[in-house]
Amino acid sequence: MTDCLFCKIIRGEIPSTKVYENEDVLAFRDINPQAPEHILIIPKIHINRVENLSDNQSEMVGKLVIAAKNIARHLGIHNGYRLVFNNGPQAGQEVEHIHLHLLAGRKFAWPPG
Ligand code: IMP
Repeated sequence: MTDCLFCKIIRGEIPSTKVYENEDVLAFRDINPQAPEHILIIPKIHINRVENLSDNQSEMVGKLVIAAKNIARHLGIHNGYRLVFNNGPQAGQEVEHIHLHLLAGRKFAWPPG
């Protein structure tokens, strides 16, 4: 989608600090990190929200999770990490392009705020 911030990052129109890329997925550092390690993992196709995923897109979502696992291992994260999808305004979703947050490097509270 033309005006989507993360689509612009995929196209290289907005700079990002990439940590991983393959034909389906891009991962880059969050510009406003909430933990010592904070990576965003996004699909290269535009989908605005988890709630609008099709039932046949499970493979794509699985690729985000597998990328997160591989990135965590590559970064040497061995004390645990948190994976988060914010969906919709009440969950705090600001960018309307599905993204999986990978957060690590500190202790996280439960329940989340
Ligand atoms: P959300 O609140 O789940 O939608 O998360 C959006 C995330 O995108 C936030 O953590 C922002 O800090 C992050 N973000 C916004 N703009 C940029 C950018 O240009 N580069 C990297 N991260 C960004």
